[in-house]
Amino acid sequence: MEEVGTGLLDRLDAMQRVAASAPGGPLLIVAGPGTGKTRTLTHRIAYLCAELNVFPEQCLAITFTRRAAEELRHRLDGLLGPVAEDVTVGTFHSLGLTILRENAAAAGLPMDFRIADDADRVAARAEAGDDPESYTTLLRKRDLVDLDELLTLPVALLKADKKLVRDYRERWRWIFVDEYQDVDAVQYELLRLLSPADGNLCAIGDPDQAIYSFRGADVGYFLRFSQDFTDARLVRLNRNYRSSAPILAAAVQAIAPSSLVRGRRLDPARLDPEAPLVGRYPAASVADEADFVARTIDELVGGLSHRSLDSGRIDGRMTSLSFSDIAVLYRTDSQAAPIVDALARANIPVQKRSHDRLRDRPGVAAIARELRHADGLGGGLPARVRLAGQVLAGRFAAPTLDGSGAVRPEEIWSAVDLLTPLARRCGDDLGLFLSQLATGAEVDALDPRAEAVTLLTLHAAKGLEFPVVFLIGAEDGLLPLRWPGSEPDSDAVAEERRLFFVGLTRAQDRLYMSHAARRFRQGSERECRPSPFLDVIDPGLFERFGEAEPRRPKDRQLRLI
Ligand code: ATP
Ligand code: MG
Repeated sequence: MEEVGTGLLDRLDAMQRVAASAPGGPLLIVAGPGTGKTRTLTHRIAYLCAELNVFPEQCLAITFTRRAAEELRHRLDGLLGPVAEDVTVGTFHSLGLTILRENAAAAGLPMDFRIADDADRVAARAEAGDDPESYTTLLRKRDLVDLDELLTLPVALLKADKKLVRDYRERWRWIFVDEYQDVDAVQYELLRLLSPADGNLCAIGDPDQAIYSFRGADVGYFLRFSQDFTDARLVRLNRNYRSSAPILAAAVQAIAPSSLVRGRRLDPARLDPEAPLVGRYPAASVADEADFVARTIDELVGGLSHRSLDSGRIDGRMTSLSFSDIAVLYRTDSQAAPIVDALARANIPVQKRSHDRLRDRPGVAAIARELRHADGLGGGLPARVRLAGQVLAGRFAAPTLDGSGAVRPEEIWSAVDLLTPLARRCGDDLGLFLSQLATGAEVDALDPRAEAVTLLTLHAAKGLEFPVVFLIGAEDGLLPLRWPGSEPDSDAVAEERRLFFVGLTRAQDRLYMSHAARRFRQGSERECRPSPFLDVIDPGLFERFGEAEPRRPKDRQLRLI
C-alpha cells in the first residue's frame, strides 16, 4: 500500500493534481487519450478519503466495461489498501443490478430474479408475437429481467419514490463516471437521479472518443455538463503519457477535422528522438496484408529475442517484446479471419475479442444454462466451465432450449476458451460469474496476461493500450464504413473518424497502418482506396513498407522500440 496523505499526489502532473484535489461539487474532466484519466480518478478517490474525510463506502465509480472496473479496483487497492473494497465500482449495468436486487420486492420481482439470456428472449419473443407488452409480461412471469431493464427498472423505481432517491444520494455522495462521452439517455437519467444538480459528480472523458452513438450513446450529455450541473468546475488534461511523439502527432492530425474539443491540445510527454515513424503498408490484397502482419510480428518478437538484443530499457520502455504487447485492430469483425489464419500459419498465438455482448454467443448461453442446472458440481469455476463444455459438446450438437437450432461444438469450445479467464477472475462465485455473462461484453473476457496477440474491433479497444498496434483495413469503405447504396452522413463520418482516432491512440511505441488494394466485400471483390482519414496525416510521419526500396532498410532493422 502506498503512503496516503502527504505525497499522495506526487505521482501526478500539475493538471492531474488540480483535478484530483478539486473540492466537492460537479467536476468535468476533459481529457484526451493517454492523459492518465484512470490514474487521476483513483488518486482523486484516495485523496478525498485521506484528506477530506470521505468514507470509501460513500464513493461510487462507474466505468464502461468490467475490465475497466477491475483495473480501477486493482489500482484503488494499491492506493487505499483493504478499505478500497468499500468503494462501489462497476458498470452501469452492474449498478442497475445492485439497485434492483436491493429493491426487488418494490419492482415486483423475487429476490432471485435472473437476467434473461438469448434463449429466454427468443422464446418469450416467439410467444409474445409483436406485442412488446406481452413480451415483458412473459419475462416477469418467469422471474426474468431483460438487460435493458437493468437500467429502466431502477430509473422507474427511483422516479416513483423520493425517499429511495434520498437514501441513495445519502449513500453515494461521491460519484465518478469514466468515459462520460458515451453515456446514453437512460444512463444519464439514472445519474441525474443519483446525483443532485450540485452534487459531487465527477465526470471524466473525451468527446473526441465518442464512438457508441449506434447504441444510443449521446456525446451531447458531455457537452452540456455545465448546463446540467450547477457551478461545474472544468479541468483539462492535455499531456499524453502513452504514445511516442510521431504516433501522437499522427493521431492529433487525424482527429482535427472533426474534433469536438475547442482548442484540442495533446502534448507528448515522451520525446524520444529515436522513436520510429508510423509504419504504413499498402498491401496488394487481404492475404498480403495478413502476411505483412504475421511477418512483422515474427520479426518484432522472434527477431529481437533471437538476436538477444540488449534487453535493457530505453525511454522507460522494455526493448524486448512479447506477443501480449501486440494488438491488431480492425473496423469489422469479419476482417479478423485472414489475420487469424496467417498468424496460425506462423505459429503465433492469438486471442480475439469483439465488443459484442457475451450472452449473444450461443455457446456462452448454453454454458451458462448448463452451469445453472448443474449448480451442485464441485471444483473451481474454470474446471466447471470446462466440464460444462465437455458435456455440451458431447451431446451431439447441443440443442438450444427453445428448439430453434443447435449449438455447434466449435461454438461451445470457443466459448470455453473465452470464459476461462473470466471464470478465473470470479473465484468460486457462480452468481457473480453468471451475472457477468449476462451483462458483459466479449472484451471483458480478455486475458491481459495471455501470451497471445490480441485481436480487437476498434470499439472493443477503447480504453486499452499496447506497445505495438496494427490498424488494418485503413481503407475507404471500412474507415469510414460504408454499405452499398448508402452514403454515411457527416455525423456518421465524424464518428468513424473518432473511431480511427481511438485506434491510433491505443499505440504506445509502434503503430502500423495497412490497406489492401483489393478486398472481398458485400459479395464481390472490390478495388479499394486508402482511407481518406490518412490524407490529413503529414506524409513525413510515415515510414512506408513494401514499396520500391527494400522493406526494412538496414539502419532501421536494429532500431529498438
Ligand atoms: P484513454 O482515453 O485512452 O482511456 P486515459 O486518459 O484513461 O486514456 P490512462 O490509461 O489512464 O489514460 O493512462 C495512459 C498511460 O499513461 C498509462 O500507462 C499511465 O500509467 C500513464 N500515465 C498517466 N499519468 C502519468 C503520469 N503523471 N506520469 C507517468 N505516466 C503516467
Ligand atoms: Mg481510460
